[in-house]
Amino acid sequence: MKHYKQYINGQFIDSKATSVIEILNPCTEQVISTISTGTVEDANNALEAAQAAQPAWEALPAIQRAAFLHKMADVIRANRVFLAETLSKEQAKVIGLAQVEIDVTADYFDYNAGWARRIEGEIIQSDREKEHIYLHKVPIGVAVGICPWNFPFFVMARKVAASLITGNTCVIKPSSEAPNTIMEFADFIQTIGLPNGVLNFVCGAGRTVGNALSKSPITGIISLTGSVGAGQKVITAAAENITKVSLELGGKAPAIVCADANMELAVNSVVSSKVIFSGQVCNCAERVYVEDSIYDEFVDKLTKKMSQVTIEDALTGVNADMSSLVSKDQLDKISEMVEFAKKEGAEVLVGGKRPEKFDRGYFYEPTILTNCSQDSRIIQEEVFGPVLPVMKFNTLDEAIAMSNDTEFGLTSSIFSENFNNIMKATNGLHFGETYVNREHFEAIQGFHAGWKKSGVGGADGKHGMEEYLHTRVVYAKYY
Ligand code: NAD
Repeated sequence: MKHYKQYINGQFIDSKATSVIEILNPCTEQVISTISTGTVEDANNALEAAQAAQPAWEALPAIQRAAFLHKMADVIRANRVFLAETLSKEQAKVIGLAQVEIDVTADYFDYNAGWARRIEGEIIQSDREKEHIYLHKVPIGVAVGICPWNFPFFVMARKVAASLITGNTCVIKPSSEAPNTIMEFADFIQTIGLPNGVLNFVCGAGRTVGNALSKSPITGIISLTGSVGAGQKVITAAAENITKVSLELGGKAPAIVCADANMELAVNSVVSSKVIFSGQVCNCAERVYVEDSIYDEFVDKLTKKMSQVTIEDALTGVNADMSSLVSKDQLDKISEMVEFAKKEGAEVLVGGKRPEKFDRGYFYEPTILTNCSQDSRIIQEEVFGPVLPVMKFNTLDEAIAMSNDTEFGLTSSIFSENFNNIMKATNGLHFGETYVNREHFEAIQGFHAGWKKSGVGGADGKHGMEEYLHTRVVYAKYY
């Protein structure tokens, strides 16, 4: 069985902790690898290595830093099948989607490398004679990236690519549920000649390693992707040194389906937004609001489509739509939420249980619920699984109000063929992202940023890259 070590200052080292983290294949419940449990000392060593490496890294012309990002993309592409299989095994992502994640991650490094010649400052007119006001964009220093288990490889790249191209060095903490693909990548980095300390990977618990990385005075910016609870802990730890945070947290995305929607498009988009990675995606449709006059027809079609979803082992079921949930904790949480909703009066139209054909693994059937109330847990709390409650609305104003009635503000969508409905919804929805007549899924050149408790700051595109830059203003007077 493979044993992974921490990657600090260009060396693979076993942590001094005696315990190891065991990584399971969720489909088989078998241990597939171990990793040494990182400690606070490992976290601090990684930060010191990143701090020592940063001035020389910043001094490299951006185009030379970009060359390393292109090499990272190249090693990913050269090992794309192996990496996809590793990803699929450690967190039960169906192999086709795992391959997409690996390929998009390579693209992400190339995309960010493209900013090398485009990171710009400004020169502003001064009110004084013989003076220019210069705005310079400079790296913050050491960036910490804390990753979730759901898109572990891609989210790692979101943090690494943007921090390195802007001249920061980086310490990444993978999720203990799914560190394998990231640790394999660390092995490949050894081959590209990246200077020691520029990129470090420390795996361990959030409350120890994550906390140490968040509260260190060395850390210049912490970018966390994870739950609201973890975000709150990171903000608290960051408060000690007033460290900048960029938080991509949970969501409770509404999908609004108007009577004039293209019904087939809406059904297909909502199902694909729910089934992708078994609904364990932050921007997944988490609740659907359907206009009264088409409600029955829509629910019939949605239920039919959801009951056709195929579930298989992630690695071998090459044509499957979805697979196991990531862990027993996820399975227990989702089952409990559905049972609670049923007690509150929800009706299960399809799913609502584990599929009978599997005698092991953490599988759960795609589920449609109706008869839920707006203030119920299933409508208010993030499920993060293949469970979709459907509700009715009479007016678009009502649908927008119900959509906004949440503590989250990540993604949302509207299905309509009417320009006025679309404009009203895109302006009235209080979410960082709104999709019009398509499934929920973002692009690398966009800007993925949650409002309200879904986060602060954001990732992707120009604005995501700029998260990793300080602005220095120079008032230059001459005679
Ligand atoms: P999680 O919050 O349990 O863990 C995320 C990371 O935070 C892990 O690496 C964990 O070890 C770390 N962590 C936990 N406690 C910490 C602490 N006290 N200090 C520092 N780090 C700590 O989340 P998860 O279960 O891995 O992922 C699921 C959640 O992530 C969902 O809520 C989902 O919506 C969210 N998510 C959001 C986005 C987005 O872009 N907005 C993307 C993916 C996932």
